[in-house]
Amino acid sequence: MTTRHLSSGVSQSQVFDELESFRSHDVKWRDGRSFTLAYSAGAEALAVAEEAYRRFSGENALNTAAFPSLRRMQQEVVDTVTAWCHGDDATAGFMTSGGTESLVLVVRSAVQRFRREGRLTATPNMVLPTSAHAALEKGADYFSVESRRVEVGSDWRANVDAMSRAIDENTILIVGSAPQYPQGVVDPIEAIASLAQQHNINCHVDACMGGVTLPYLEKLGEPIPLWDFRVPGVTSISVDLHKYGYTSKGAGVLLHRNKQLRNDQTFVTDNWLGGMYGSSGILGTKSGGPIASAWAVMRFLGENGYLDATRSSRASTQRLAAHIDAHPDLVLRAQPDSTLLSFGTVDEKRHDVFALADLLIARGWYMDRQGPPASIHLTVNAVHASRVDEFLADLDECVAGLNGQSGEMGSYASTE
Ligand SMILES: *Cc1c(COP(=O)(O)O)cnc(C)c1O
Repeated sequence: MTTRHLSSGVSQSQVFDELESFRSHDVKWRDGRSFTLAYSAGAEALAVAEEAYRRFSGENALNTAAFPSLRRMQQEVVDTVTAWCHGDDATAGFMTSGGTESLVLVVRSAVQRFRREGRLTATPNMVLPTSAHAALEKGADYFSVESRRVEVGSDWRANVDAMSRAIDENTILIVGSAPQYPQGVVDPIEAIASLAQQHNINCHVDACMGGVTLPYLEKLGEPIPLWDFRVPGVTSISVDLHKYGYTSKGAGVLLHRNKQLRNDQTFVTDNWLGGMYGSSGILGTKSGGPIASAWAVMRFLGENGYLDATRSSRASTQRLAAHIDAHPDLVLRAQPDSTLLSFGTVDEKRHDVFALADLLIARGWYMDRQGPPASIHLTVNAVHASRVDEFLADLDECVAGLNGQSGEMGSYASTE
């Protein structure tokens, strides 16, 4: 299909041969070579995810009246995530297509709440640490909300006093992350949520990364500061299942403390010729694939599966962090609170961290580059247990191979 016009159709086997041939330069994430973008709790869990996805890929969750199967799966997935987040009978949520849709809806819901309460009189703003995810910026852009970014503290956690000073009567939303993506630390959620209570505004906890890991780390006995619905003032929590839930891409959950707050998320209209139209999220037609995949993997892994995956990811993270922390030429940005970490170099001229990333990528690894400050970021999951030693040996050799060459940060460019 190299021209603009389709040729005659070909056999199934040719289609699949061609598809597989396209993969030759893709990162080998199933083998644990990627520290970003893809997650695996093993070949069996992947097979369950893919088969469930395949079976429900053509079903449409736009209207679950026609597909009670999807309604049931979605409800059971939301109920499980509610339990992870210590919600109660009032907690209400929906599945989303992932963290970005959840966060865009969080911004929209906060605008709706202000409108509903008659408080929307000027340009609304949201107050959030510089570490909070870029998708919140997307939401602010879509709904014309001013984004007030507040510098994090020296420990990379949200600076709550500075956030407090940035809040005014047009602030509709404040945000903390558990953990934040760039350095992998958990924000002081109790203090942030208490600010939200004082101002009677929404407080979102972005647990897209930590929403599966933190509950299981707590069950494994690690001291985890409170970050979920046990904290008064938290109004919503986002949890991605296509990350540490190990399900197929396109699955997240957005939970609200109660049904009224959830109503601020939904959209309903009859202002067209097609009758009453309502939807919980941004999508209209919505594949049943991610929903079935999420349900199936959660059922397959179960409590023991998630405990094992979390124990393993955490152990790998700690080995990576300890090695990097002890390395004379590397700087660990923060001790990881869960399973994300980042690091830079001591002598940035001699050891350019992006040139280091280039060398590692040339050896078949893949990772994110970020800044400021210029850093390599690792998202560590269950697939990495058997790869940590090999990665660290390559890391040491690549650092030793740096001598003043420079690299570039690049970007998450899906805009071309
Ligand atoms: C991944 C991530 C998001 C965005 O989620 P997508 O699933 O990539 O859309 C939001 N917040 C945090 C903390 C994340 O790690």
